[in-house]
Amino acid sequence: MAEKKVKETKTEKFEFQSEVQKLLEILVYSLYQHKEVFLRELISNSVDALNKVHIQTLTNPEVDEKELDLRVDISIDKDNKMVVIEDSGIGMTKEDLVENIGTIAHSGTLDFVKKITESSTGNDKMDLIGQFGVGFYSSFMVAEEIKIITKYYVKGSKAYLWQSKGDNSYTIEETKKDHRGTRIELLLKEEAKEFLESWRIKSVIKQHSRFVPFPLYLDNEEIESKEAIWTQPKSSLKEEDYNEFYRFFQNAKDDPETHLHLSSDAPVQFNSILYVPKSNSEIYGYIRQDPGVDLYSKKVLIQKACPELLPLYFRFIKGVVDSEDIPLNISRETIQNDQQIQKIRKFVLKKVLDHFTHLKEKERETYLKIWKNFHPNFKEGVPNEYEFQEKLSALLLFYSSHSPKNEYTDLDSYVGRMKEDQIEIYYIFGNDCDSIEKKPALEAFKKKDLEVLYLTDQMEIWTLENLRQYKGKIFRSAESADIKIDEHDKEQEEIKEAENFAGYLKTVYADRIGEIKISERLVDSPCMLVDSSNIAYERMGRMMKGDKAKPDISKKILEINPQNRLIREMISIHKGKPDSNRLKTLALLLLDNMILREGILDDIEHIILRTQDIMYEAATQK
Ligand code: ADP
Repeated sequence: MAEKKVKETKTEKFEFQSEVQKLLEILVYSLYQHKEVFLRELISNSVDALNKVHIQTLTNPEVDEKELDLRVDISIDKDNKMVVIEDSGIGMTKEDLVENIGTIAHSGTLDFVKKITESSTGNDKMDLIGQFGVGFYSSFMVAEEIKIITKYYVKGSKAYLWQSKGDNSYTIEETKKDHRGTRIELLLKEEAKEFLESWRIKSVIKQHSRFVPFPLYLDNEEIESKEAIWTQPKSSLKEEDYNEFYRFFQNAKDDPETHLHLSSDAPVQFNSILYVPKSNSEIYGYIRQDPGVDLYSKKVLIQKACPELLPLYFRFIKGVVDSEDIPLNISRETIQNDQQIQKIRKFVLKKVLDHFTHLKEKERETYLKIWKNFHPNFKEGVPNEYEFQEKLSALLLFYSSHSPKNEYTDLDSYVGRMKEDQIEIYYIFGNDCDSIEKKPALEAFKKKDLEVLYLTDQMEIWTLENLRQYKGKIFRSAESADIKIDEHDKEQEEIKEAENFAGYLKTVYADRIGEIKISERLVDSPCMLVDSSNIAYERMGRMMKGDKAKPDISKKILEINPQNRLIREMISIHKGKPDSNRLKTLALLLLDNMILREGILDDIEHIILRTQDIMYEAATQK
């Protein structure tokens, strides 16, 4: 505990926990434009306090002042430059004041606030303030001094006065207060005196606090509020009603990405409205969010951020579940094992998964946005989900060798495209699709036309390795899979390469030779010249006439033997460097060789030069 007693008098002086001091420094000097949020934060604290006392009055006979109206009163005192917010809620003991107001509950909150105030677009993100429990402190953006006068709801409790100027310390002393609850007095800074105007306060309430479930008064005049929307029939609600409610209870400026309104009477009665936000604050703050769904019973808040209503991995889903079947006095411990809650959870989760499936199939744009923001949650969820693991896995999106560049596919589509005898789902990891596509391990898969999922996020490996299989097909890394190009494929490949090489020789020899063919009869020799059948006849005719004319090479066929070691090497050079000079010399020499064998000694000077070139190369090779 960080409080420190400095002086022992009737008025005790305390120092704020050092995190709070830093937080106050940030808030007091903040240039945040929407300082009016302080009011929303204070009203919301009052509502929480009223909710708590409401449950007590319904379940606990010992509550003091049971008959007291549950309400929030705001009053403006222009002469004294004061705005006062008062509630008849649960109140605070002295310990509560020290514990709750003097410290920050969330350890990551300060980091979070620092980050959002440092970043250039901090104003928007600052809107997340309320979600991280710095609510009360935001009043120091408008007030130079704050007093809290509070009295706990239990009979015989003392009242306390808490005071601070937003510097490093605060004081607490005993005081008098007629009724239970909390009164917060803000002495406004000069630059915040707009909040002494009742129209200004009204407009802030209209904007931020429309759904407050208790009567709200400004200078004794009731401000009209709206009913909790989850109990209203879907047909009576418009998109804007859902959005407005979302903005209110999420303290959000923007609308949600999507919403889902559920009602059920059996096996358990409940109403629920759930939302997916447009952004993911975990990305900014590195703080893991609390669960996002609040539990109500007959419109009374039972537990905020109730972890039992949806799995933790779906903590980004915000909303409410209200069930008449949940007793008001249910404790946190009982909630965990409560049968009704478990039934609700199962129902809600299934509906949420159905909704995502629908979006994925039918409203792709929306689903892609949700995926962009919350893919880590889905990936985190898959190994942690038992009952609906397959349904959740089907929501994962992947790049793949099948889909066009940077377009997603999913496991069902993959399985649908699998070859008949394929039993595994292949994946390969890399930083991005481009670098994955250059991986040698992919070659064999490409040749066999086997689809491979491209994983570009380490977490996906973890997810798939833990999932192990989808619809009975095991996941296998393409880099460890024992996939070979089989003999038949290899032969095909070699024939193709030999044909390419033959084409190359043709361009080198041009008209000097009639045709080039892959030999089917040569075993050891690299090549040979054969007559085309026409020529054979011709030659025979000439011979019979006693003609001794030289054979015409340009009409002959050169057969090459791709199995021969020299030809093999030449094919390989051709594959890697088709414009190689050495290859060209070798090709010419090969033809020279054959011509010599025919006994023709026409171009002898060139033959000698080429031979010497190759001899030189052989001589210089180390
Ligand atoms: P948060 O409301 O997010 O917990 P705050 O800083 O606004 O953070 O409030 C801290 C705590 O102080 C509350 O959780 C609550 O316990 C207590 N508190 C604040 N305002 C009131 C109030 N009007 N009545 C009773 N308790 C209050």
